[in-house]
Amino acid sequence: MKQLLRDSDFLARYSADEFAVILNPIDSLQRLEHTAQSLLKALSQPFSIDNDSVYISASIGISLFPIDSENAPQLLRNADQAMSAAKAQGRNGYHYFKPAMQEAARKRMQLISELRHAITLNQFELHYQPIIDLSDGQIVKAEALIRWHHPERGLLTPDHFIPLAEETGFIHSLGEWVFTTAAEQLKQWQELGLPTISVSINASPLQLQNGGLKPGDWAERLSGLGLPDGSIVVEITEGLMIETSESVKTTLQQLHSNQFGIAIDDFGTGYSSLAYLKEFDADFLKIDRRFIQNLSSNSDDAALCEAMIVMAHKLGIQVIAEGIETREQLEFIRYAGCDHAQGWLFARALPADGFAAYLQQCPANGLV
Ligand code: C2E
Ligand code: MG
Ligand code: MG
Repeated sequence: MKQLLRDSDFLARYSADEFAVILNPIDSLQRLEHTAQSLLKALSQPFSIDNDSVYISASIGISLFPIDSENAPQLLRNADQAMSAAKAQGRNGYHYFKPAMQEAARKRMQLISELRHAITLNQFELHYQPIIDLSDGQIVKAEALIRWHHPERGLLTPDHFIPLAEETGFIHSLGEWVFTTAAEQLKQWQELGLPTISVSINASPLQLQNGGLKPGDWAERLSGLGLPDGSIVVEITEGLMIETSESVKTTLQQLHSNQFGIAIDDFGTGYSSLAYLKEFDADFLKIDRRFIQNLSSNSDDAALCEAMIVMAHKLGIQVIAEGIETREQLEFIRYAGCDHAQGWLFARALPADGFAAYLQQCPANGLV
């Protein structure tokens, strides 16, 4: 048990067959559950006694400081009570003291199982947000943003389920679905004779690791659909660059050599090294919304925006400003030489039909 705990945790045997563990700190529910599960797993391994294999099982009760109590003896009593509940549920499991916590854990498991079925049940949809070329005000791109039509909870935005999809590995199937859907949508718009645009899709860093995403296959499928090179841009978040492994680098190189555009998303929120941009052959840099938000009130953010634009241009990289909500913000980034703009000032992410209508109605003299 000790091997599964960190130095900062505490393990005690407090009666014959009862142990107490203090986890400190617990940064997430996930970490807590992970520890509980690994303890159960470790204890379920056979013990070899006198050449015999002996099996035991354990039950774990969990009580949280300070939510459940701020008092140590009370916390232990709570945990004990929760442990009885775990035993009653059939041993070799864990149980939270608080009904609310228990409920949250149950909901999470349920969401994971619903997520797995959502593709076959056709519950996902891509919405498209226009990206405007600031030189002529025309719509040149769209970013595909995923939505989940949950049967009970309504329309869910990605922050409700992408982290869970990443945690469970489901993100790989989801990423493939996003690519396929975006490519087929582009094909449909092409057949309808809509103005030619490219679509940006968001890829999770996990998809780029260990050969999960196969640029060669994607390229073949695009040409199978008769779509031109560069039709799809892959957006990856800047955070990825900090922990780049060889496999990530290889995938990025393959994307590049297969004519996919590469955009660095949320730029400025992570490690922000421009040297990486060059190394990864990025085509676009997307300035994160939080810099844009404070343009008028925070002169540092204004200076940073200008600097990012100048430096990106020196490296031959085009810049997209995210989260443009006001005319003032638009004028600022335009004056600073930014290439593209995206944000609610123009349109929110729209369902495919709504986007097509928006694209068709774009005035000939542009939107800016
Ligand atoms: P992101 O790629 O940075 O996308 C931009 C987010 O900002 C979107 O939120 C968009 O709706 C929102 N937004 C756009 N313009 C404005 C504006 O003017 N003001 C404000 N306040 N917000 C604006 P959304 O759709 O909730 O997506 C959140 C994040 O989820 C995305 O951030 C992206 O990282 C992730 N995501 C979205 N779709 C996918 C996907 O298909 N796969 C993966 N792996 N991640 C996705
Ligand atoms: Mg994005
Ligand atoms: Mg972003």
